[in-house]
Amino acid sequence: MPPVTTKWSEANAFLAEARERDAADPLAPFRDRFHMPPHGDGEVLYFTGNSLGLQPKQAATFIEGELEDWRTFGVEGHFHGRRPWVDYHSFATEDLAMLVGARPREVVAMNALTVNLHLLLVSFYRPDGERTKLMIEEGAFPSDRYAALSQLRLHGLDPDDHLIELAPRKGEHTLRAEDIEARIAEEGDRLACVMLCGVQYYTGQWMPMERITAAAHAVGATCGFDLAHAAGNVPLQLHDWGVDFACWCGYKYLNGGPGCTAGAFVHERHENRPDLPRLEGWWGHSASRRFLMEPDFDLMPGAEGWQTSNAPVLNMAALLASLAEFREAGMDRLREKSLALTAFLERGIHSVAASTGARLEILTPEDPEARGCQLSVVAHGQGKALFDHLTARGVIVDWREPAVIRLAPVPMYNRFADVARFLVLLEEGLRAAK
Ligand SMILES: *Cc1c(COP(=O)(O)O)cnc(C)c1O
Repeated sequence: MPPVTTKWSEANAFLAEARERDAADPLAPFRDRFHMPPHGDGEVLYFTGNSLGLQPKQAATFIEGELEDWRTFGVEGHFHGRRPWVDYHSFATEDLAMLVGARPREVVAMNALTVNLHLLLVSFYRPDGERTKLMIEEGAFPSDRYAALSQLRLHGLDPDDHLIELAPRKGEHTLRAEDIEARIAEEGDRLACVMLCGVQYYTGQWMPMERITAAAHAVGATCGFDLAHAAGNVPLQLHDWGVDFACWCGYKYLNGGPGCTAGAFVHERHENRPDLPRLEGWWGHSASRRFLMEPDFDLMPGAEGWQTSNAPVLNMAALLASLAEFREAGMDRLREKSLALTAFLERGIHSVAASTGARLEILTPEDPEARGCQLSVVAHGQGKALFDHLTARGVIVDWREPAVIRLAPVPMYNRFADVARFLVLLEEGLRAAK
């Protein structure tokens, strides 16, 4: 990291506070269990765990274990491997259930995120008579919007008439719980399904998921969530909240590596429902009878009944390595650190703004219960020069036009010192750009 010459009067106070907090952090040792990408003689300041989580050092061991079993057993690895491949998905089940607040039979690791979204919408978006509408949020992650539009067309419905995109009030960036509830009530029995994000990828807003679920159910609609930015970030209670279905990817906060196997949740009230249409495959067929190669489908109970194909073992091996770290760290402790880390960043951004006179507007809600670790910051009046300044100094953040910086200090491997050093570089970059 090149030397910096800060004029930010609080810099030393922030750096000292960071040192103290890191020294007292019970999760500090987890940093060394992940590969932090290098930058020059040091390491980057990595704040994009919301896009791709870092590699757990154990990932290589887990993957090599499966390669060894493949070498040793060939096809017999399905039954004789250290983690028999025939049940491979199940080795992720308990940890995923813990992370999303579900019973083990309600979750399954399978496929990729958008694929799972489609599979679940096939079952839970069932337009019928006047009840046709599908609700998403405005500015949803493009893949989710494409999925929603194509599901409507699959049913022969015109998205212009049947897709609802919830928008914030004029002049606001995030949705108010009461507005979501009011819109759901207003749509009433025209609403078939509410499918929102858990944490919004752009603004970082954590949706009031329990209230949304209750509101959807009150009008007879189903309710599901895309937890891409929520799983492993915020504590979830999908079962208790009564959510019907959910899915998430394995490579953002879950650190399972690029293209990692995703997850799905189906509430147990829907298990064993052969009446629900679904896209079937042999991995959703009764496990004990799967290799009898019977012509007729015999549905597996629970979320596993939504499986179609056998598990991508090499790809899931890295996920298992990461889930072991989550098990040990514990979602409670991660959330506790996350609250402190993000509050520290928020306080620093306000201080840097005051010091430089720059207009730094945080889009993410101030209420800790309405956000995870990510802050989305608009650097008003700034251009790409600020981003380039940060990048040249080893800061990895997400930049979107017009000057929106998305930062995710991840409690698993980010330190308070990372945040303090980022703030120093931010202040320097803002002053340089003047
Ligand atoms: C990251 C992300 C995706 C990516 O979809 P894949 O199917 O994993 O490629 C989709 N939706 C949301 C909300 C995301 O954040």
